Amino acid sequence: MAERIKILSKDWDKPNSWSLETYLASGGYQSLPKALKMQPQAIVDEVVKSNLRGRGGAGFPTGMKWNFVRKETMTPKYLVINADEGEPATFKDRAILEWSPHMFIEGLIIGCFALDCHLTYVYCRGEFRDGPIARCQQAIDEARAKGYIGKNILGSGFDLDIHVVSGAGAYICGEETALLESLEGRKGYPRLKPPFPANAGGGLWKSPTAVNNVETLANMPAIIEKGGEWFSSVGCAKNGGTRLFAVSGHVKKPGVYEAPMGITFLDLLNDYCGGMREGSTLKAIIPGGSSAAVMTAEEAVWASDFDTLKAKKTMAGSGGVVYLDQNTNMAHALANVMRFYAHESCGQCTPCREGTGWLSKLLDKIVSGKGEKQDIDNVHQISRQMEQKTICALADGAAMPAKSFIEKFRADFDALVKG
Ligand code: SF4
Repeated sequence: MAERIKILSKDWDKPNSWSLETYLASGGYQSLPKALKMQPQAIVDEVVKSNLRGRGGAGFPTGMKWNFVRKETMTPKYLVINADEGEPATFKDRAILEWSPHMFIEGLIIGCFALDCHLTYVYCRGEFRDGPIARCQQAIDEARAKGYIGKNILGSGFDLDIHVVSGAGAYICGEETALLESLEGRKGYPRLKPPFPANAGGGLWKSPTAVNNVETLANMPAIIEKGGEWFSSVGCAKNGGTRLFAVSGHVKKPGVYEAPMGITFLDLLNDYCGGMREGSTLKAIIPGGSSAAVMTAEEAVWASDFDTLKAKKTMAGSGGVVYLDQNTNMAHALANVMRFYAHESCGQCTPCREGTGWLSKLLDKIVSGKGEKQDIDNVHQISRQMEQKTICALADGAAMPAKSFIEKFRADFDALVKG
């Protein structure tokens, strides 16, 4: 196995990895003065070269998003952080906030400087209150005391303030426009697009806004220190850097692992997670949070980057990977997932509100032993009707697993129904 490159998790095995002292001792806050001496556009150009893709789920090129914001003439401009990590099976942003918050804060300051943003918000999921939010706030306080946040940062003339905001527990507030609505003090309803947040009229208080994920920003110090080309060389084509995988399921060592973008699911399982548990054989993989289409054991040889998985009709998503063994009944697993989506649909769009509700009811009927073959076909048919018809991607995120679970593991469903 090649030597592991660690960018985001390099300090996690050090004592008090979250403290300013530890971060400074490992070379932290050295990219910030370098960035503050650069032209903001030169920073964005490095990010473009780095092939950094957004780590929240969509995998949009970060440099391109930042260029959209920079091209807008309207001010003020905002950079808002999506730390509302609510996708089932995903728990890697909380690891950054808890174990290396200063790396994220340094990246956030650099990002704000690049976008000429002077006020930024870190929108955290409410359940993060005791651990990640407290660590993040502590890091902000320490950075402010050192002069990294506030007026005239390190004598550069650049001013910035950072606020941490706690959500109230709605999954939909992880959708970027629902997040902005919530931040503005309203109910977290996704907005119709266009205009997109990066454009005038679509962002926070209608200002051009880049909404970025915690992990995305935490990569910024390394990109400034070593350059965009180096970062790009770490990953695979058009997918620069490493990625944090939150691994759960029937593996020997579940946890958060940093691996190069594009690692295969088989290598992630065997080289990082110790393989499947004793007595377990791999049956299925959820590759990028519960909204992703499921994969079979034979498909574990697929690369995990955004483009490969999109071409295979699933997605890299949020980096939450679940390995399931032969004892998992996929109908039960899907019923469990669907109860979540039915509960979290915001209700604005009929295909989502009614569709997730019906999928959940039908799947509960199937797993209770009262279902018929037609119910399985109806689940498949309803999920097809939900795709690409709604304001946000939640409906697609429910339809993708529903369709793929049935297409790839139909026998598990058939075994539970009459006739
Ligand atoms: Fe709300 Fe679902 Fe429509 Fe998204 S797709 S806006 S969650 S009803």
